[in-house]
Amino acid sequence: NKQIILRDYVTGFPKESDMLLSSPKVSLKVPRGSSAVLVKNLYLSCDPYMRIRMQKLDPPGYFDSYVPGSPLSGFAVAKVIDSSHEDFKEGDVVWGITTWEEFSLVTEPETLFKIKYTDLPLSYYTGVLGMPGLTAYAGFYEICSPKKGEYVFVSAASGAVGHLVGQFAKLKGCYVVGSAGSNEKVELLKNKFGFDGAFNYREEPDLDAALKRYFPQGIDIYFENVGGATLDAVLLNMRVHGRIAVCGMISQYNLDKPQGVHNLANLVFKRIRMEGFLVFDYYNKNIHRTFEEEVREYLKEGKIEYVEDTAYGLESAPAALVGLFTGRNVGKQVVALEHQ
Ligand code: NDP
Repeated sequence: NKQIILRDYVTGFPKESDMLLSSPKVSLKVPRGSSAVLVKNLYLSCDPYMRIRMQKLDPPGYFDSYVPGSPLSGFAVAKVIDSSHEDFKEGDVVWGITTWEEFSLVTEPETLFKIKYTDLPLSYYTGVLGMPGLTAYAGFYEICSPKKGEYVFVSAASGAVGHLVGQFAKLKGCYVVGSAGSNEKVELLKNKFGFDGAFNYREEPDLDAALKRYFPQGIDIYFENVGGATLDAVLLNMRVHGRIAVCGMISQYNLDKPQGVHNLANLVFKRIRMEGFLVFDYYNKNIHRTFEEEVREYLKEGKIEYVEDTAYGLESAPAALVGLFTGRNVGKQVVALEHQ
């Protein structure tokens, strides 16, 4: 059973060498008397929050630290091989939390969701139909309270969450601009995902000036994925009664100390609502069902485009995960284990 283990706690930027491929011999059976589920992983999801779990969290916060010497865990799509749990049977396809191994023994099967429809690619449940999709959907519709005609800015806009947020905003009738870290990504935002505008933040020495160019009237909604200097410039350009949905701050995850935000007083002057949220609060709620039904239809009708960046083989997973922090991925970063 090949697996990817964390060598030791990580500080600074994560590296491929922080992880190690190992191949221990394990029993591929569910222990009798347990309610565990044994699955074969088909697709692994690479997500930025995994970097937070690679450090020693003391005290543990919302996330637990990974345990050095043990496999990483994260979202995946998997097939049930053996089960002692009444909700799952051999052959079921599920998405949820498993370990970075060929086979995972899931001892908390309540973290798994059965996949009911298989007419769209199964890998979509690591992205547009899974955790990042629900993040984009709940974050945009619930936290941003969008109205037709509003001005929306999305950072990390070509990533798993960002490219969906931008398209939801277009479907709502908003004006949408995104920022991303390469010209290739900027072209994709404008030509494939239908953003009204996009810019490469690495080529903008003055982010405030860039935002003023794209939003001469100011920003009503900011979908925050990166934090730091981008958030600081956005605060200067928000409109009165604007909303900021704080989804994540990837620019901060590898730093010892948070950096770059000085303009928070604008929250007061402009009566901005800035609200953080976690996708986990929306699982198994009505919005989860509405999300899945609506987004499945959008995909089938071609109303939203979805882009995956697929790495093949468990061996490629460390590089794929590290690539999130250099912007190597275009769209959702997934690792396919079944087509090796
Ligand atoms: P992405 O697919 O967007 O991948 C990460 C991207 O972030 C990279 O491709 C890169 O794109 C960009 N990036 C990396 N480092 C920096 C940096 N220092 N400054 C600016 N941009 C950077 O990831 P996701 O869509 O999965 O996640 C996006 C955000 O949403 C993250 O902050 C994540 O933590 C958060 N999140 C929050 C959830 C919640 O429940 N609140 C759930 C899921 C995700 P580029 O080339 O454009 O720089």
